[in-house]
Amino acid sequence: MNRRYRKTIIAGNWKMNKTPAETRALIDELKPMVSKAKWCEVVLCVPFVDIPMAVRLLKDTRVAIGAQNLHQLDSGAYTGEVSGPMLKNAGVKYVVVGHSERRQYFGEDDALVSEKVQAALSAGLRPIVCVGETLSQRESGVTMELVAYQVKSALSGVPVARLREVVFAYEPIWAIGTGRTATAEQAGEVCNHIRTVIRKMHGARPARSVTIQYGGSMNAENAAELLAQLDVDGGLVGGASLKPKDFTAIVNASNQ
Ligand code: PEP
Repeated sequence: MNRRYRKTIIAGNWKMNKTPAETRALIDELKPMVSKAKWCEVVLCVPFVDIPMAVRLLKDTRVAIGAQNLHQLDSGAYTGEVSGPMLKNAGVKYVVVGHSERRQYFGEDDALVSEKVQAALSAGLRPIVCVGETLSQRESGVTMELVAYQVKSALSGVPVARLREVVFAYEPIWAIGTGRTATAEQAGEVCNHIRTVIRKMHGARPARSVTIQYGGSMNAENAAELLAQLDVDGGLVGGASLKPKDFTAIVNASNQ
């Protein structure tokens, strides 16, 4: 982490878990433990239906609410979809874009991710853009090339002045929900590569202002080592974000 130039962000991705009633119980437990963290921004990316409850329970705290997806257009005949302006109006600050589960199960490709990044920014939301490789891509040695392509594509419509609002999450797909974490060196290497790609596109000053998270089985035990890497500026945390003590330990591990 390098807190001089960019914000450390620890974001929980609840995925498709927790009803509004369960959200209340989880936040009631979590709130006293994380709401005073001053060294990082804590974000809870909750299911759409839990947003009103989460926003209400966490208003007047430092904890921000995120969504897990948005549609690329602002409104229209797109049954079942939710737009950026709707999320903004509901009190959301961040939105996950291009999570590997959306790429894998819902056919989201880099072109759509790019449209969603622009939709998020134009609605006043900060996109958390997920990039990362499969195990076979890592084994065939294309990780750096693939991640560079994903980053360039996601940023293709983003003006340099808005770059610092974009968050990247390097999430090796083989580490998500598997209990298999990238080593701190692997995480640091790819996060550094992401910053290099941004630097080549836009220059050193904008590149050093971008928060780059690691995600993939981050937990209470491995968080400190991952977050000690210079270019790892936080975590996107799935499973462990549903366990208040573990998530709190990760938030506390970012205070280094
Ligand atoms: C995620 O959902 O983005 C994630 C990293 O999940 P997990 O921490 O469970 O691997």
